Amino acid sequence: MLTETEALDHLLARIQPGPAETIRLLDTLGRFSKADLLATLPLPGFDNSMMDGYAIQAKASEDPTRLIPIHSEQPAGVDLHLTCPPGQGVRIFTGAPMPAGADAVIMQEDVEVVGGAIRCRESVQPGENVRRAGADLCRGQVMLRRGGKITAGTIGLLASQGMEKIEVHAVPRVAVLSTGDELRQPGQPLEAGCIYNSNGPMLQALMAGLGVREVRTVQCGDDLETTVAVLSELLASQDILLLSGGVSVGDHDHIKPALARLGIQPEIWRIKVKPGKPFLFAQSRQAGKSTAASLFGLPGNPVSAFVTFHLFVRPALLRWMGASDVSPFTLMAAVSERLHNDSDRPHYLRGTLKDGVFQATGLQQSHALYALSQACALLRLPPGQALNEGDAAHVLLLNTPVG
Ligand code: AMP
Ligand code: MG
Repeated sequence: MLTETEALDHLLARIQPGPAETIRLLDTLGRFSKADLLATLPLPGFDNSMMDGYAIQAKASEDPTRLIPIHSEQPAGVDLHLTCPPGQGVRIFTGAPMPAGADAVIMQEDVEVVGGAIRCRESVQPGENVRRAGADLCRGQVMLRRGGKITAGTIGLLASQGMEKIEVHAVPRVAVLSTGDELRQPGQPLEAGCIYNSNGPMLQALMAGLGVREVRTVQCGDDLETTVAVLSELLASQDILLLSGGVSVGDHDHIKPALARLGIQPEIWRIKVKPGKPFLFAQSRQAGKSTAASLFGLPGNPVSAFVTFHLFVRPALLRWMGASDVSPFTLMAAVSERLHNDSDRPHYLRGTLKDGVFQATGLQQSHALYALSQACALLRLPPGQALNEGDAAHVLLLNTPVG
């Protein structure tokens, strides 16, 4: 049985970034850049005023009795190439180019207008209220590294460069397969002994959180022949296949036998983690397909599927999507009460995080979906260890947004 680190290392070594595509800037939210993006325009693009006011030489503002004649006016949106003569001022507006000869802008609230001149009620320093060209970003500076995530802020920055299209890594074709005779779909009657399929929609939602919004969903019963046919078709048509259930060794667990029938050897089966031990990973390279299809077999228990998704599928998927950083969001928190792990595997406890305090929520068992739904963080408790109230531990944040 592999440790979490061994399993993750294996997955990341086996998964390569997918192909690139050039798409509209607005469609790139949550995607990863194919290349280093360098600025072609500095920011600000030219020296300009931060305020509505008067461009002057700062030293002219030191004497509050002095009358400073207003020489001309510079609006925003046009460069009149004005020069401010010594001892005079230029009426100026926010974003308008600075006239030559002026080194500061006094805001209009700080002057008294006397006919065609002003008196300064406050003094300004050289450079005050002036935005210098290139102070934020220089031409040639890296705006986003290859593999960097495109956020709303990045989209704003790239738009400021006049960019319309960006080369990003593609999103994989993903299918979510839910296996189990007991599974029913919404709208279907729930006969005794049956349950509604919750893993399918949950895994779809987890995918959407990573920016994969189009997912094929398939359901299949516990039957070897059907499982072989479904797996064969999905491995041929998808890049990533995420399945839940049927990966253990019960009489009705058909994933491993079906893979054997297809000649596919699992590369990972079972990981030392709680919940989520019966995790399976395999790859299949089909004739005529340039990249291998990756299959992640998650345990049927919803909490196990959820936890293993975060620990193993998320980083692997991010790698496929070209992300340079696939690590989870973690921070230190104090625990609200004594927690202990009597098992021989690291236990990922589900809980809330408030004001830096982690509190485990409800039933900490692998079927406890309600308790999971209340959680926003996972705390890793190593085997045989205990934490006392107030002790600090690493927690992994859930539900972090795409953008
Ligand atoms: P299995 O791994 O197939 O033995 O399933 C383990 C447990 O997870 C059983 O109680 C199943 O009923 C449950 N389970 C399997 N698939 C799902 C699903 N898609 N939604 C909710 N529960 C499931
Ligand atoms: Mg099952």
